[in-house]
Amino acid sequence: MTSESTCPCGSPKYSECCQPCLDGQAHAKSPEALMRSRYSAYIELRPQYLYDSRHSSTRNKRTVQELEENCKAISFQSLTILEAPLPEEDEKEAFVEFRAVFKKNEEWGYTQEKSRFFKEDGQWFFVDSQFNDPQLKPEDPCWCPEGQSFGQCHGRDK
Ligand SMILES: [Zn+2]
Ligand SMILES: [Zn+2]
Repeated sequence: MTSESTCPCGSPKYSECCQPCLDGQAHAKSPEALMRSRYSAYIELRPQYLYDSRHSSTRNKRTVQELEENCKAISFQSLTILEAPLPEEDEKEAFVEFRAVFKKNEEWGYTQEKSRFFKEDGQWFFVDSQFNDPQLKPEDPCWCPEGQSFGQCHGRDK
């Protein structure tokens, strides 16, 4: 991954998006930027970043070693930000809802989460996530990239 590449999170330029965060040159400017950088950290295999960017109240849920195993087990394919209101300057808590599609053991999977972030000493940290069901109708496009409707694809058994 070079600076000129597309960012792993899907935005046009790595050097102007997640790279400064992952390389420790800058803090994420917003909860959305932090969320994107954590997604990119999975792809770029930066378990220490995943650890450090988590708030101290929940940081010990996973060791750096466990995070590294998670990064290796999951191959993220796409990120969609669903809701990321920009918090006011003095706001100390914020939420970002997103859907991420991945491959694990050759199977498609997704996670839809509403992540919580705390601001401490001017820096945003990831706290925890609430997992949501995407509520797709059978005629909606499936969340996986196979190009079929949800009802003919992963929604078939529902
Ligand atoms: Zn990015
Ligand atoms: Zn599908």
